[in-house]
Amino acid sequence: MKIWLFILNFIVLGIFLQCSEVKMPSKINAMNTETSKNNPYYSRTDKTKLNVSNEEWKKILSPDLYAVAREAATERPFTGKYNETDELGEYYCAVCGNHLFRSSSKFASTCGWPSFFEAEKDAVKYKRDSSHGMERIEVLCGRCDSHLGHVFNDGPEPTGVRYCMNSVSMDFVPDEKK
Ligand SMILES: [Zn+2]
Repeated sequence: MKIWLFILNFIVLGIFLQCSEVKMPSKINAMNTETSKNNPYYSRTDKTKLNVSNEEWKKILSPDLYAVAREAATERPFTGKYNETDELGEYYCAVCGNHLFRSSSKFASTCGWPSFFEAEKDAVKYKRDSSHGMERIEVLCGRCDSHLGHVFNDGPEPTGVRYCMNSVSMDFVPDEKK
């Protein structure tokens, strides 16, 4: 009898943990806002290239943003705060404020991460990425060199490419708040 109670406890605990995981994005969101306030390099107007060490970024960025932006981690699919957003506005680099995407280039993809068919002119850089046994093209912020995601050749017209981005790497500003 006791063993069944023990197993039942495990199941209940499992469900509870899963539920708390689903709530993660809003927590990340709150931390991001806090991060940009205490980030002296963050600017949506200054285009000056940044050369900041990871040691310095670690003191400024939230752990989630640091892991993705500076260590090229990938957020779990379907968890990002901008995965299903279709609001009108602009997307900026969450690390430095560089303007990356306009909402009009965002499209509904089924991959689990926010996807765009076009980046702003000169906003991003590309790097060959052979990690995890795959040949991919990494997308980096053109101003601060932070990892944003990858770009693939299976996007919609007019470009045919898909920028597959991490939500945590971006800040979204809706049109009415500009
Ligand atoms: Zn940046």
